[in-house]
Amino acid sequence: MQCRMCGHTFDESEVEDHGCQGCGKGECNTIHCPNCGFGNTSKFDDEFKFIKSLKEKFSKKSNSSEK
Ligand SMILES: [Zn+2]
Ligand SMILES: [Zn+2]
Repeated sequence: MQCRMCGHTFDESEVEDHGCQGCGKGECNTIHCPNCGFGNTSKFDDEFKFIKSLKEKFSKKSNSSEK
């Protein structure tokens, strides 16, 4: 995956304990970038894809609307 903060590309499966060195969250669901320590969430990825697909649907609708 690619870090949203610094753009560093890394394999999240190779990051031990998600790279978390105690960010304060009880259960950390983020993958911390080994370069800058930013917590990247895979959930956000899914939401972003969902929003993107929605936008594509809307743009297709407006393009194909015949009045
Ligand atoms: Zn953490
Ligand atoms: Zn980073």
